[in-house]
Amino acid sequence: MNARLNERILVVGGGIAGLWTALALARKGRELTVLERDPPPPEASADEAFESWERKGVGHLRHSHAFLARLHILIRDNYPDLMEELLAAGCRELKFADGLPLTLQENYKPVPGDQDMTILTSRRTTLEFIMRRYAGRQQNIRFETGALVRGILTEKDAAGQLRVTGVTAEQNGETRDWLADIVVDAAGKNSQMIEWLNEAGADITEETERAGILYFTRHYRLHDPKNEPARTKIPGAGDLGFIKYGLFPADNGCFSITLAVPEIEMELRRGIVRPENFDKICAQLPGVAAWTAPETSEPQSRVFGMGELISRWRHMTKNGEARVLNFFPIGDSVIRTNPLYGRGCSFAGVAAEALAETLDSTDDARERARLYHAQLAKELRQHYDDMVKQDLAATRRAKNALDPNYKPGVKARLFKSFAEDAILPAVRGDVDLMRAFMRSFHMVDAPNTWARDPRNVSKVLRTWARGKKRNAGLYPPKLGPGRTEMLTSIGLSPTADKERMQSA
Ligand SMILES: Cc1cc2nc3c(=O)[nH]c(=O)nc-3n(C[C@H](O)[C@H](O)[C@H](O)COP(=O)(O)OP(=O)(O)OC[C@H]3O[C@@H](n4cnc5c(N)ncnc54)[C@H](O)[C@@H]3O)c2cc1C
Repeated sequence: MNARLNERILVVGGGIAGLWTALALARKGRELTVLERDPPPPEASADEAFESWERKGVGHLRHSHAFLARLHILIRDNYPDLMEELLAAGCRELKFADGLPLTLQENYKPVPGDQDMTILTSRRTTLEFIMRRYAGRQQNIRFETGALVRGILTEKDAAGQLRVTGVTAEQNGETRDWLADIVVDAAGKNSQMIEWLNEAGADITEETERAGILYFTRHYRLHDPKNEPARTKIPGAGDLGFIKYGLFPADNGCFSITLAVPEIEMELRRGIVRPENFDKICAQLPGVAAWTAPETSEPQSRVFGMGELISRWRHMTKNGEARVLNFFPIGDSVIRTNPLYGRGCSFAGVAAEALAETLDSTDDARERARLYHAQLAKELRQHYDDMVKQDLAATRRAKNALDPNYKPGVKARLFKSFAEDAILPAVRGDVDLMRAFMRSFHMVDAPNTWARDPRNVSKVLRTWARGKKRNAGLYPPKLGPGRTEMLTSIGLSPTADKERMQSA
């Protein structure tokens, strides 16, 4: 038997990244142990998982989640039986055609590749519960639950290179060492393993950027799951500047609404967490109002809020040399992304595949570290950079909107016009352009791949040249009321933040 397959592998954390890692390594014939602090999911239904699965380790478990096409493809191609189980449990596939503006939908004809732009969506508890149950049935994956990792075991070789040899975990009131040849850190955004390694001398650096928003999510259930509100011209997701909203159809007649508020909107972020305010806001968003109306659905949860959202990239190599050997961070512990883009789980899935391939390709610990992190950079870095750029621009826009003295310069006006009067109407009026855009959105193509095709650029420029009047039918309809109207409607002051900014 291949000696590599006998390596002792510990995966710390059995959330999304831990599960993708366990599945990818098990698929290659490896045995591994997952140490997870939380209890296993209840053995019963998706509803029970949503209501009672205790996950102290995942604060965002009950926020809206969807898996982008990149992850859908990964499941479809590598785990067709898991896909069947997910769909049988009520997870939904939202296809490329489902997301098209109604005007494009009328004449839509599928072409090869459209099947690669399908989103998988449900309550995250359902996605994770089914994945966990599936992983639990694989003979070579062992789950140790209630196992809280509290420390990392390291040693330095003769050349002073730091290597990981295991972890210390507390389980059932006892603390013990778990020795391993390979430790995977899948302990999520609050993982402490990198801090512990730095204390041991690893010198791992990171770059961070604020996502610039706070997340607010509420869950609902349709009175009649077979009778969903019909799609209208107004999309179920959009950006009003002071609120970004998204409707997430989920499993078993459930759906959730997420409202993301710029950090700078202090009034709104204080008020939105009250369920009555949240519902009043939804009632004024034509893209979701029919869903949250009391005659259509009823709320199933309070409003879950989440702040401190950052993007973070940790550098595990320096000049191509590993800072630490036999240690592979994956998922949020190594790369965190703004949840608005729905990329975190796809990042984790892609990284799990990269790790499985790396471990198979060589026994050399240095080479493994180099290959794994080079692969993460190749697959994910462009998406990360593109996201950070967009976030910084959105944060600037939110700040400018509250600043009464702000006057955009020529460059800013030109960029705005190119985005709003060229790209947006062009994409909404041309199914091939929409395809090109969605392929990047889904991480199937690199960001902005559309711009490398001169035919696409010329379509966008022609649309811009036609002017607003002749493009009138291509603009999205009004997504909701303005800021003053919305804040006033829920009893908040539309001027308080502006006054605060002026006096600052
Ligand atoms: C509000 C919000 C919404 C999001 N929406 C989306 C979305 O729509 N689509 C998408 O793709 N991504 C989304 N993301 C990102 C996605 O949720 C994360 O990228 C994903 O959860 C990362 O998986 P992970 O396994 O790294 O971390 P987690 O899923 O957080 O799992 C970490 C696991 O490690 C365990 N653990 C932690 N510490 C220890 C320890 N010391 N010992 C043992 N076990 C431990 C935890 O209990 C947990 O099970 C969202 C994120 C947020 C915050």
